[in-house]
Amino acid sequence: MLDLVISGGKIIDGSGAPWFRADLGIAGGRIVSLGRLKGQKSKKRIVANDLVVSPGFIDIHTHSDLTLLVNGRAESKIRQGVTTEVIGNCGYSPAPVAEKYREELAGQLKDDYNLELTWSSFAEYIEHLKSSPISVNVVPLVGHGALRAAVLGYENRPATPAELSKMKGLLKEAIAAGAAGFSSGLIYPPSAYADSAELVELARVAAEQGGIYTTHMRYEGAQLIEGVREAIMVGEKSGIPVQISHHKVTDRGSWGLVSGSLRLIEQARRRGVDLSCDLYPYLATATGLSATLPDWAHQGGLKAMLARLVDPTISEEIRAELVRTQQHQGWENIVISSVHNKENQRWEGLDLKSISEELGLEPAEAVLEILVREKGRVGMIRFAMCEDDLKTVLRHHLTMIGSDGSSRADYGILARGKPHPRNFGTFPRVLGKYVREEGVISLEEAINKMTGLPAWRLGLARKGLLREGMDADLTIFDPDQVIDRATFLNPLQYPTGIKQVIVAGQIVVTNNEHTGVKTGQILL
Ligand SMILES: [Zn+2]
Repeated sequence: MLDLVISGGKIIDGSGAPWFRADLGIAGGRIVSLGRLKGQKSKKRIVANDLVVSPGFIDIHTHSDLTLLVNGRAESKIRQGVTTEVIGNCGYSPAPVAEKYREELAGQLKDDYNLELTWSSFAEYIEHLKSSPISVNVVPLVGHGALRAAVLGYENRPATPAELSKMKGLLKEAIAAGAAGFSSGLIYPPSAYADSAELVELARVAAEQGGIYTTHMRYEGAQLIEGVREAIMVGEKSGIPVQISHHKVTDRGSWGLVSGSLRLIEQARRRGVDLSCDLYPYLATATGLSATLPDWAHQGGLKAMLARLVDPTISEEIRAELVRTQQHQGWENIVISSVHNKENQRWEGLDLKSISEELGLEPAEAVLEILVREKGRVGMIRFAMCEDDLKTVLRHHLTMIGSDGSSRADYGILARGKPHPRNFGTFPRVLGKYVREEGVISLEEAINKMTGLPAWRLGLARKGLLREGMDADLTIFDPDQVIDRATFLNPLQYPTGIKQVIVAGQIVVTNNEHTGVKTGQILL
């Protein structure tokens, strides 16, 4: 007797192979049969005629480290068909905690998520994550920024040999506690304060433990190629597998550079460097407004940064730097996505040009004013990429799909602000817009980029493919209907066309309803 039979669907198995029609039998959370299952007894049955049955999607690049603690239902991801999330990207993870900044971090967690900071080490964070059930599987990474902050704070200088060896120790501990590797965010202090040599040293340690390295590169603009060279160098010198995160060009004058960067990646692979990349299907980035400030302005952490913003001489230097680096990108292309103070919530969804007019300030001055009023914690969305580059990267055989978003919901504390629509729409958008409507890639290629390929990158031996013996994480969707609904102005909207989502053999989403099932595992 099987637990569940899915009959008559078009099987897209995650390998990139063409679809075929078959029934799929599940028992004990695993796929136990794939073929014609007429007459097989089963407790439950899903008739999937003309629907696609694929492995559950693996979101290789996310930031759900804290949101999963707030709402384990993982609504905005599971409803896209995502059954596994990789957290701890862009150099950021909530552990190990830098004790020097503990109070600051605790305050942020309280304000943003109503969470208590109860952990210090990476192992304690993982224990905390495990302590309440969640609907998606999780692959954790440890952030280089967290490692660096824990050892030398927000110091803008190379690490001493003693400090480096402390970081290595913390990295080893994190991997022993279950981290699949480490991530860097080389535009974000304190990760940005590291030189390449530090990254190579850490990568050697992670490589020895079987870990991977994901990187938000130091440059994604005119110097993109230099950023890619650094990522390749880290892989080449340490032997670690490298995942270039959200590969793109964010400088309007440098669009087109991704063709060269992809060629570089191919060349490096021919030399034996294990490189791949991911992408989200939108033309705008999302991060903190403070990321527009020069690196040196962050030295010492948030309090020190805020003090600089109100110092007449230093703030003038920062303002001049902002004009130099941001002005030519167009202030109208930067939109505020979230603030904390109620009286400023009218800014959410407005661009910096409009806000600066309202404030009666020059746009660069307005940036500083907004940061001061909001104590540095403001979300921004920046329209900076082009459709041609997106398609070039999407078509490439080494590219996977990663949302760069987090598990959110359209209710509760996670429904705040106007976050990037990628949190709700990434995977259906690829399937609806780039596969069905524009034919940029085939359906089988798209599914491979969402399942088999990331499972290969992460070494998840039982995920990403539909085969007998694999975990029964599945997404059933209508290829003629599937599409994202989340927009920049109205981002908290779930997609359509995702019919059923199954994690470990249990139905988590059916007919646009979350069943409350929480069968996700932390994949350690
Ligand atoms: Zn990033």
